[in-house]
Amino acid sequence: MRIGYGWDSHEFKRGITLKIGGVTLPHDKGLGGHSDGDVLLHAITDALLGAIAAPDIGSLFSPSDQRWKGADSALFLEEALKRVRAAGYEIVNLDSTLILAAPKIGPHTAAIRARVAEITGLPGDSIGIKAKTPEGMGTDNAAIAHATVLLQAQPTPKRPRKPKKTK
Ligand code: MG
Repeated sequence: MRIGYGWDSHEFKRGITLKIGGVTLPHDKGLGGHSDGDVLLHAITDALLGAIAAPDIGSLFSPSDQRWKGADSALFLEEALKRVRAAGYEIVNLDSTLILAAPKIGPHTAAIRARVAEITGLPGDSIGIKAKTPEGMGTDNAAIAHATVLLQAQPTPKRPRKPKKTK
């Protein structure tokens, strides 16, 4: 088994669509970044990469690479999942915590869980999506995400038994 941990933060900016967990949320600001700024998918991606000791998201998808400008962060997560499978592992479950002052995440938790389930292939009851407000932290203009994942070795396919020789 392997455990992985990821963390990310992005700053709120006006004139950008807010995307968290692969879902577009109604808000007057979005998260700045080279890609779509999806702080939650970035944290989950880094947790997966960390679990197999692969290079982190910034090394694989450099912010200076024009290919990733405005990119859908689901692409990063899909690449991390591909690497996890290639390393011989599959995800058991993932858990996450978002820390942001606004908007309220509660009404969107189900949609975010459904989208993360769609990308990862995990059942909804194996995806933790939690949100807190940054009490006393002075980070009201940022969204922060923490994520952990547990991986297990992929089951090795059983070889068909050779038929017994009959004399
Ligand atoms: Mg990021």
